[in-house]
Amino acid sequence: MKLAVLTSGGDSAGMNAVVRAVVKAGIIRGCETWVVREGYEGLVRGNGDDHKAEKPAIATHKEVHLKDESFVQNLRFGDGELLRDGTSDYTSGRSLKGRYIVRVGWDDVRGWFGVGGTLCGTARSAAFRTPEGRLAAAYNLIKEGIDALVVCGGDGSLTGADVFRAEWPSLVSQLRESGKISEDLANTYGHLKIVGLVGSIDNDMSMTDMTIGAPTALHRICESIDNIESTAFSHSRAFVVEVMGRHCGWLALLAGVSAGADFIFIPERPPEEDSWEDAMCKMIQRHRELGKRTTIVIVAEGAHDKNLQPIRADAIKDVLSDRLGLDTRVTCLGHTQRGGRPCAYDRILPTLQGVEAVEALLEATPETPSYMIGVQESKITRVPLMEAVAMTHSVSKAIGEKDFDKAMSLRDPEFHESLEGFYATSQVHPEPRLPHSQRMRVGIMHVGAPAGGMNAATRAVVRYCIAQGHRPFAVHNGFVGLLDDSVHQLSWLGVDNWMTRGGSELGTNRKLPDIDLGLVAAKFQQYNFHALIMIGGFEAFSSLDILEQGRKHYPAFNIPIVHLPATISNNVPMTEFSLGSDTSLNALVDACDAIKQSASASRNRVFVVETQGGKCGYLATMGALATGACIVYTPERGMNLNMLRDDVKYLKKRYGLDVKGKSEGRIVMRSEESSSVYTTKMITDMFKEEGGKLFDSRSASLGHTLQGGIPSPLDRARAVRLALKCVAFIEREHVALLRQSDGPRVAPPESAAVITIQGSSVKWVPVQEMKEHADMVNRRGKSEPWANVRSLIEALVARPQILGER
Ligand code: ATP
Repeated sequence: MKLAVLTSGGDSAGMNAVVRAVVKAGIIRGCETWVVREGYEGLVRGNGDDHKAEKPAIATHKEVHLKDESFVQNLRFGDGELLRDGTSDYTSGRSLKGRYIVRVGWDDVRGWFGVGGTLCGTARSAAFRTPEGRLAAAYNLIKEGIDALVVCGGDGSLTGADVFRAEWPSLVSQLRESGKISEDLANTYGHLKIVGLVGSIDNDMSMTDMTIGAPTALHRICESIDNIESTAFSHSRAFVVEVMGRHCGWLALLAGVSAGADFIFIPERPPEEDSWEDAMCKMIQRHRELGKRTTIVIVAEGAHDKNLQPIRADAIKDVLSDRLGLDTRVTCLGHTQRGGRPCAYDRILPTLQGVEAVEALLEATPETPSYMIGVQESKITRVPLMEAVAMTHSVSKAIGEKDFDKAMSLRDPEFHESLEGFYATSQVHPEPRLPHSQRMRVGIMHVGAPAGGMNAATRAVVRYCIAQGHRPFAVHNGFVGLLDDSVHQLSWLGVDNWMTRGGSELGTNRKLPDIDLGLVAAKFQQYNFHALIMIGGFEAFSSLDILEQGRKHYPAFNIPIVHLPATISNNVPMTEFSLGSDTSLNALVDACDAIKQSASASRNRVFVVETQGGKCGYLATMGALATGACIVYTPERGMNLNMLRDDVKYLKKRYGLDVKGKSEGRIVMRSEESSSVYTTKMITDMFKEEGGKLFDSRSASLGHTLQGGIPSPLDRARAVRLALKCVAFIEREHVALLRQSDGPRVAPPESAAVITIQGSSVKWVPVQEMKEHADMVNRRGKSEPWANVRSLIEALVARPQILGER
């Protein structure tokens, strides 16, 4: 198969990672790989009739012989650098001028991972919308012998892809009839395979949870709002922040949740009141009465009232100034939202989706529909492209018809939950929602090491509890603090700016309740807790187990107790994500980008990067995928001499294949407890010694920096969603306990549970069931949901080809 990849429509972070993954996966699967510059416009323009793809002669460090000779053929064509630099190579006279469909090899997409936007260029092509333009595009593809196309863009680009594929047979007939192509070519290229990937910062595509670039745009927005927040606080000002999203409020909504905004305007759910001005002022007035110094209102560019009258940032500013007398400023974030380095998610998702796109193309037949590659929670999916596009359009249609319930119903469950989360954490209710009899005293505790999102989760629990009529109590410094009576009630305003705070505002401790279980029970009784929410890692899970088992002896533990996993190690069994894991992956990516730059500057350096993670290799493995590391060591797999011998062999061959003077820095990721013998220092020294003149080696131990500073927006948003589910759970279990007939109440085992994310659903797992899946000695799950990622990491650095395993 000869396959080409193009990026189209508005650019988004992660598009380069798509191209990198498609090119690499294509070469691994034996395809010839091409990129099309400037989106569909490049297809229409093609290469001109007299162009011949020539392969420049390139001198490598060493003559390296691989079993897989075709891999060497596909290693480089030299145009990647020209694309990357956006210039011509004046020394060799190579230029991309007049060439829009460019052959690329493995090393041509080197280093594309961390670059924002799209290096292939993108355009909105009027020509491709016309039948003549598409005829020219078909001709240009056939001329280069390309029979498969990956398109990364928004709904417009994917519609274009489907139109192109549907028309393809007639385009081929026209080219045959006009004599532009031969009968043979017409027969050979009778069918075009197309797959779509959604690159869009708006996250506006239906049938997928996330579009490529949306998480990075959310990062940019939250960074800006976090900065605005401090100046707003200084002057006690109000800020109206306009974000992108013509038909989709995802960015505004998630930014509202993650930044802890006061009010948001999104197209799918305009304020229900007749006057949006009244609705907003009422809410903000209440916040100010409670003592808030800052006001943040986020408005999507496509926001409107329930009669579809646009709501503009300036109008909001006027209302806040005139009616509430607030010193108000407007900030329109504009194109800053599109820019910058991709976040970890926007490196991992496009990589997984790019690989899947190649598989989908290889399996495509004239009978199969064109697929769009999506994602549902953590699973990569294939959905019929046109169905997804049609469903996406039906959201705009429903909004246009003022059917906002329908528009909401067409958004995914996470959208709904985030909106509920926003209301629950921003609204102040004059009266609690629950009757007195159901109100609880809820203890909240952080257990174990700090992780990003712990404070955001606590804030959400506190605000939701207050809205319901419960009294939330902070237990500071874990179980030790409980025994020391470090307990105090939390208020709505007291947690106001906790969304953006890293670490643990409550203070956290690794001690388990068995330091003195009897006294812990006495304290539960003293504070009359009706429920306990523990936020933390493996220690929180172990504590839950101890408390549940302690119920036999201590009636005070017969209350609902939940554990919300929060740990950068992500080592809590049965859940694919813990709060904090996204923050630390981003911290890892940031550090590795800097390290790689230094490693590449000295041309030939291997950096051994040591990560935290205890006996769990999640962070190292996903970090390796997100940074393009070439080797990963984890505690689960361990380390041995044979492995190290192969690793040295791989590095020598790989550096040998590099162009002289253009070797790059490479990263080896090592989880801290991978081996007590083959330490980070030992392998760094070994690589240095073995590398000789080919490569040098250094190490960097990232340690506690991986706990991250400000939690990532995804961790904050996830914290809010899960925290609300925790409160709903303890409420249900509390009511069930109240219904028990007279006599001492006995909490059922299921009322001590862990909230987990499994595939596409959030599931409660009773602690005793979870224990069966836990490796209590190594403090991790018995199975690793990310186990197959290592083979992908190795595939993406061509380890099998270079070591001659294929
Ligand atoms: P964004 O989400 O950033 O707007 P998009 O992919 O939706 O991205 P569009 O401008 O709508 O951006 O589409 C990009 C390109 O796709 C268009 O310039 C055009 O070349 C092509 N295209 C869109 N719709 C069609 C169509 N119906 N037929 C043919 N080509 C189309």
